[in-house]
Amino acid sequence: MNAETLLKNLKDLKNTFEAEEQNLTNLDRAIGDGDHGVNMLRGFKAVDEKVTGETISDVLKSTGMTLMSSVGGASGPLYGFSFVKMAGLDHDEMTQDNLIEYINTFKEAIATRGKVTGGEKTMYDVLLKSSEHLDNGNKLTEENLQQFAEDTKDLEATKGRASYFKKDSIGHMDPGAQSMVYVLKALSKDV
Ligand code: ADP
Ligand code: MG
Ligand code: MG
Repeated sequence: MNAETLLKNLKDLKNTFEAEEQNLTNLDRAIGDGDHGVNMLRGFKAVDEKVTGETISDVLKSTGMTLMSSVGGASGPLYGFSFVKMAGLDHDEMTQDNLIEYINTFKEAIATRGKVTGGEKTMYDVLLKSSEHLDNGNKLTEENLQQFAEDTKDLEATKGRASYFKKDSIGHMDPGAQSMVYVLKALSKDV
């Protein structure tokens, strides 16, 4: 995928988050404060309006800066910082071969910024499983990604607002894990 396709995929996330806003709101109402749908839609509306770039790095950096400045809550800085970190990778195109580098950089950025590890019921869990999946030589499909988000249902939250729910968080999918499915689909579907 070249920069133009990446830019289109990221701008198209505005439509995804418009369609999924209520779903994300409902997930965040159960184990948070109910704003994840609004937060993600606000972010990707801004991406659609403002992001420009001629190279993969430019597009990722512009997306990260835009998300950081437009999304409040825990998720905005986490996603924003990660896109800026991915912009540090220097490839002319995103390919099936280098996708693992982007996913691993994304994963490490969330780990650093969120002080999070696997099994804490966050967006990080989807990145960790995606990284392992690619490492094993598999391709990332929408079905795989969705299953990685579904897997957060069984976990007890120990990070973010959901951690206030302690054992009551078990049985609910993490909202950030669901939004990560859409973001990773946009990054991986055309490699
Ligand atoms: P807020 O919790 O501030 O209202 P959002 O609702 O937009 O922000 O985002 C919540 C999501 O952010 C969670 O579902 C979780 O996936 C993610 N999250 C929260 N805290 C952390 C953290 N420390 N590390 C990784 N992800 C986190
Ligand atoms: Mg929230
Ligand atoms: Mg909030």
